[in-house]
Amino acid sequence: MTATTIQKDMVASVHYRGTLTDNGEEFDSSKGSDPLQFLVGGGQMIPGFEKALMGALVGDKKTFSLEADEAYGPKDPNGVQEVPRDQFPPEAEVGMVFGAQMPDGKSIPIRLVGITDEVVTVDFNHELAGERLTFEVEVMEIREATDEEKSHGHAHDGNCH
Ligand code: ZN
Repeated sequence: MTATTIQKDMVASVHYRGTLTDNGEEFDSSKGSDPLQFLVGGGQMIPGFEKALMGALVGDKKTFSLEADEAYGPKDPNGVQEVPRDQFPPEAEVGMVFGAQMPDGKSIPIRLVGITDEVVTVDFNHELAGERLTFEVEVMEIREATDEEKSHGHAHDGNCH
């Protein structure tokens, strides 16, 4: 019997801690909650994360750093825009995140990065765009994806639907 490794169409559960490579600041961690479960190749994860874990076994611990283009991509300067102040509620503050409705009906998060009496400056970029990221990952479980998971393109952890 061959050992089960992380590869396409497997569902992997991992504990992880993510820090900014440049200053060590933690931006996310699964500590204190259930492991993160994902369908490998399902496009749920940033590309470099899956790539670094390919071939890993249960119990493996890996630490790796990703350049921005393997993580959330470069920061798009056109993603920062000014919007009239009256399009936001009076209580809007720098740091808040709102959902912006796109023409195709999808909602994307926008962060408020500046406010004057006339305009609100919003940033459509992902908060981690342009950042190099370091991950410490421990592989907890690996299993074959079900046909349903493969057709949905994501892992089912019991509360998905
Ligand atoms: Zn589903």
